[in-house]
Amino acid sequence: MTIEITLLGTGSPLPSPDRAGPATLVCAGGKTFLFDAGRAVGLRLTASGVIAPQLTAVLLTHLHSDHITDLNDVITSRWVMSPEPNPMPVIGPVGTALVVDAILAMLAPDIGYRLAHHEDLNEGPKPVVSESTGGVVFEEDGVRITAAATDHRPVEPTLGFRIDHDGHAVVIGGDGVPCAGLDELCAGADAYVQTVLREDLVRQVPFQRFVDTIDYHSTVRQAGETAQRAGVRTLVLTHPVPAPQPGAEAEWIALAAEFFDGKIVMGPDLTVVTV
Ligand SMILES: [Zn+2]
Ligand SMILES: [Zn+2]
Repeated sequence: MTIEITLLGTGSPLPSPDRAGPATLVCAGGKTFLFDAGRAVGLRLTASGVIAPQLTAVLLTHLHSDHITDLNDVITSRWVMSPEPNPMPVIGPVGTALVVDAILAMLAPDIGYRLAHHEDLNEGPKPVVSESTGGVVFEEDGVRITAAATDHRPVEPTLGFRIDHDGHAVVIGGDGVPCAGLDELCAGADAYVQTVLREDLVRQVPFQRFVDTIDYHSTVRQAGETAQRAGVRTLVLTHPVPAPQPGAEAEWIALAAEFFDGKIVMGPDLTVVTV
């Protein structure tokens, strides 16, 4: 049995016409997990043949805006498209409940309109939030998801996730720099998905706020080094900052290959990696 990874959105906070916001779909053992819910995640889910009611759970690596902009869309879509109550598990770092409660508050007028209009709707969306500081966050039917604290400081707390199924393992590193928690998750994994930044390019931008982002993101080199150290088989680069033109990924892959011997994948939205 394999695990399938779909890079739904490979973008970053900077809007791109080609790259939706950060979101990654992982399918294993008949279950479907959405990691982060960035800009246009609903469009990309549909393009990959998945609708919100089918998600087993949504997992958030952290609460930076680019990773949660469209969580409200996932919550609403799941609610209005499910014929029966279908509470959505949302797993994330401490602070997730606060964010989900605020989203529900923002949606209050909409929820009111729909409850008043549709006889068969008796209650609003009821996401079930679990906040984690690390450890097993999901285990069912041979699919286990383990979380570990990552280092994206000063943004904290943040999580990385490892999905294990039938002898295969996939890691969603999220944003952040190399750290012990990430190394533990990655140890011996088949695939490691890491958000990356090109320090050489970012340093050329005459805008300090942009240059500041180097502080807390893995560079392509660091992602390669983490993958190499952990003995990962495939390194998947996503969320590139700055966003390369479509087709220009080869340069980034070549850079990572200086530090990692395994397979490296980087592509447009909806790139699929199977392990
Ligand atoms: Zn990000
Ligand atoms: Zn971030």
